[in-house]
Amino acid sequence: MRKRYALFGHPVAHSLSPWIHAAFARQTGIDADYVAIDAPDFAAALAAFDGDGANVTLPHKQRAVAACASLGERARRAGVVNTLSRRAGGWHGDNTDGVGLIRDLTGRLRLDLRKRRTLLLGAGGAARGVAPALLDAGIGDLFIVNRTPERADALADALGEPTRVRTRYFGDLATLGEFDLIVNATSATRGGALPELPMALVGPRTTAVDLNYGEAAVEFLAWARAAGGREAIDGLGTLVEQAAESFRLWHGVQPDTDPVYAELRARQASLVSA
Ligand code: NDP
Repeated sequence: MRKRYALFGHPVAHSLSPWIHAAFARQTGIDADYVAIDAPDFAAALAAFDGDGANVTLPHKQRAVAACASLGERARRAGVVNTLSRRAGGWHGDNTDGVGLIRDLTGRLRLDLRKRRTLLLGAGGAARGVAPALLDAGIGDLFIVNRTPERADALADALGEPTRVRTRYFGDLATLGEFDLIVNATSATRGGALPELPMALVGPRTTAVDLNYGEAAVEFLAWARAAGGREAIDGLGTLVEQAAESFRLWHGVQPDTDPVYAELRARQASLVSA
């Protein structure tokens, strides 16, 4: 029987995930449906869903933990779930955002992350997903800055590495010096604007990554390029890689992400130039 998967978020109309999962299914010959479900009420929407698995996106990733009967190690450490798999005892939760970012940076961009002094902007679901993976990849000091400082402190506490992980305020940024890696894991540019970021955060060695893509990534990437960074990339690669990891968890098959990424990148370029 055809397996059924869904993405729960609010809003989700912008999501590229249904397209990506359809491309993986065609590539691997797996018969599966994947639809985006706009879910203002996550618990109600999930209860009404009788499919085999789901992705969860903002603003529900922390809420999804409560829906799980069991959690994988990555979701437990992150405290957020972006992938649900139906098991006999109930939903099993995992998190693929971290591995998605790391595969994009170390695979596609061939970056060596070891000892990289890193600034993480945001402490929501995405930041929680990527922070443990960045630490595991061997980065150096990690500074977390969030609009709501308590959430940054809670994330730092959860990471449990007080000598490597520190929190700061947006107002402190001018005093922090240059970073090798800056990750924007906020949703600020989706409905407003990022707080002002000093150019002094960026040097010629800096890689800046915005987990957002399309219009939502324009402001941060323009700032990083104007500040003279080595490279500034959006979250399209992370998106494809985290989707591939969810696909592998559900179907036991690792899709080839390169052609899917290349086609998406070309579509994005034609949208921007249209
Ligand atoms: P959440 O809603 O869980 O968290 C949002 C974060 O953005 C919080 O840290 C919040 O701060 C911060 N924020 C929101 N508005 C502002 C603002 N005006 N100024 C400063 N900070 C702000 O969302 P997620 O963490 O799940 O997602 C964040 C972004 O990352 C989204 O745009 C999402 O699309 C993208 N993403 C991309 C992925 C990819 O694969 N490329 C994967 C996952 C996410 P506060 O705590 O103060 O509210």
